[in-house]
Amino acid sequence: MHKLTRATTLALNGLGRCFVAKQRVSAIKLPSRGLVCAEHGDDSSQNEVYDIIISGGGMVGSAMACSLGMDPNLEGKKILLLEAGNKKVMDKVPDTYSTRVSSISPGSATLLSGVGVWEHITKMRCKPYKRMQVWDACSDVLITFDKENLQDEMAYIVENDIVVAALTKQLDSLSDNVQVKYRSKVVKYAWPKPHLAADSIPWVKVTLASGESVETKLLIGADGSNSMVRRELGIPTVKWDYDQSAVVAVLHLSEPTENNVAWQRFLPSGPIAMLPLSDTESSLVWSTSHRLAEELLEMDEESFVDAINSAFWSNENQSELIETAGSLFRSALSAIMPSAGSPRQLPPSVAGIGPKSRVMFPLGIGHASEYIRHRVALIGDAAHRVHPLAGQGVNLGFGDVACLTHLLSQAAFDGKDLGAIQHLLEYETERQRHNLPMMAAIDLMKRLYSTNAAPVVLLRTFGLQATNMVPALKEQIVAFASK
Ligand SMILES: Cc1cc2nc3c(=O)[nH]c(=O)nc-3n(C[C@H](O)[C@H](O)[C@H](O)COP(=O)(O)OP(=O)(O)OC[C@H]3O[C@@H](n4cnc5c(N)ncnc54)[C@H](O)[C@@H]3O)c2cc1C
Repeated sequence: MHKLTRATTLALNGLGRCFVAKQRVSAIKLPSRGLVCAEHGDDSSQNEVYDIIISGGGMVGSAMACSLGMDPNLEGKKILLLEAGNKKVMDKVPDTYSTRVSSISPGSATLLSGVGVWEHITKMRCKPYKRMQVWDACSDVLITFDKENLQDEMAYIVENDIVVAALTKQLDSLSDNVQVKYRSKVVKYAWPKPHLAADSIPWVKVTLASGESVETKLLIGADGSNSMVRRELGIPTVKWDYDQSAVVAVLHLSEPTENNVAWQRFLPSGPIAMLPLSDTESSLVWSTSHRLAEELLEMDEESFVDAINSAFWSNENQSELIETAGSLFRSALSAIMPSAGSPRQLPPSVAGIGPKSRVMFPLGIGHASEYIRHRVALIGDAAHRVHPLAGQGVNLGFGDVACLTHLLSQAAFDGKDLGAIQHLLEYETERQRHNLPMMAAIDLMKRLYSTNAAPVVLLRTFGLQATNMVPALKEQIVAFASK
């Protein structure tokens, strides 16, 4: 009941905002969005003023900086990217794979192509895959997603470091349009008052750890799931931990294969996924209880490899009742749709792991009920954090980048104030309409597969088999996840 209430809160929280936003562009709500945080310094006039400051140069913030820096309508605008960490340059692709990888959707590839880095990424290291096979450890029932036209890629596995390095290189070439300050941690924000007259509105003031202060007409918060921008604005956020951690590692396969399928098996303790990196290597994302995750991290390599193979192959969670019911249902479906369904493929077995490649991350969900305030917009994990089971986190962030760039470009073309709430509200509405259904679907899937209770297993067995038999439905799911 408690869980249901929280899931419903997430949905209502965001949906309510999407649906009312269009009517609310008028001033009614604007003061309340700014009043919470009204504060500004006295020395404003001495600080350098930027048109846009992006706080956080991870994958999403760096993509935002490139995207704005390349937009012709924003030419001449002063744009600054602030990143707490070091500059990530990559003169040469490392010999070994990094543990942190992302499944990049075709929609994100289009965005990265638009900002001029996709070709560089594919030249460095990037593994496309054509199919995804997902199956239930309690019933062995599977669903296969692929592109109708197998010439097309379903998605791409790319190391996060490679994405950031490519964006960093591109930012170097955009230095006339975008200034970047690395090792520049923001320690304080001071917010403007929205109700002052237009010509006297003070900007957002940003203070760095070095003591330097700068000001901006629009602050874009891309500072990750613990976003200081979101926290300091007091934006209500629906969030909870999943009592799960993800163990990631680089896997060496037993033998070379074409390796163009992403595999995911739902165990009652959480999903285990094997994502292709090359003919001989894959990336592991194993979401499980914190206790098992810690054990997996401490195991010797041989036991860890055995545990992975067993998690993909073992039948220990299956029962005769579920198997019988599942095969009866499958026979009935095959009689109605003889040519539907997809053949089962077997995942490759694992022989070893990359040295020191095992790491774990605690998992949770989070959604900011507001993505914007006066002169502020949140993007990426600062606005929304999801479970990695659908490989959507950074893809949602890249979607934010595409949407916000489009609206800011239009605002600049029309000669409008970039920090004005009107077009920021459009950004919030458009993105919440996309992000919330995706987040709700991911959360529902996580809950549905976190049990081995027979009625739930039966329900999902029938649901998965039926979905697998309906290509049009699967195409819709793939299209939604490809954006
Ligand atoms: C195990 C795992 C697997 C995943 N797999 C996938 C996948 O397959 N596909 C997918 O789409 N997503 C995946 N994700 C999610 C994805 O990694 C995140 O959505 C993505 O990294 C978020 O990027 P971001 O730039 O918004 O935030 P971050 O990567 O957190 O970057 C935030 C940046 O802001 C900087 N920063 C923070 N505070 C400050 C400050 N005060 N001042 C200046 N700078 C600051 C930080 O240094 C950092 O560089 C996965 C996540 C996990 C944990």
